[in-house]
Amino acid sequence: MESKLSDQEITELRQELRGRAQTLKSQVHKELLATGNEQYIELAGRVHDSGDESVADLLTEMSIAIVDRHVKEMRDIDAALGRITDRVYGICIECNNPVPYERLQAYPTAKRCYTCQTRYENSYAQPKRPGL
Ligand SMILES: [Zn+2]
Repeated sequence: MESKLSDQEITELRQELRGRAQTLKSQVHKELLATGNEQYIELAGRVHDSGDESVADLLTEMSIAIVDRHVKEMRDIDAALGRITDRVYGICIECNNPVPYERLQAYPTAKRCYTCQTRYENSYAQPKRPGL
């Protein structure tokens, strides 16, 4: 199954992903500087100058709690950009059906179609039955 996205749609979504990555990067840069910690300030410089280097990789290496919450999103964005390169972007990783463009617009890092995402979340966050 191939993605049904047009080149134009792919371009728009790629811009969206890159824009989001830039926003996250400057946020992380600011948060690291705000710590006043010398080591983190040095890292903030590396984040700022990272260019194409993955900021998520830099941060994972250091494992810094204050920016941890951004790292997952950065990873998702890296993965989505990688899927664009591999021409598998917009295809559900579970069922291989196309992920609708409207869903990707709302959530450009989506790996699954609605059906598979719902199933995934339900099985992942299944509350334990209380013992009787
Ligand atoms: Zn699916």
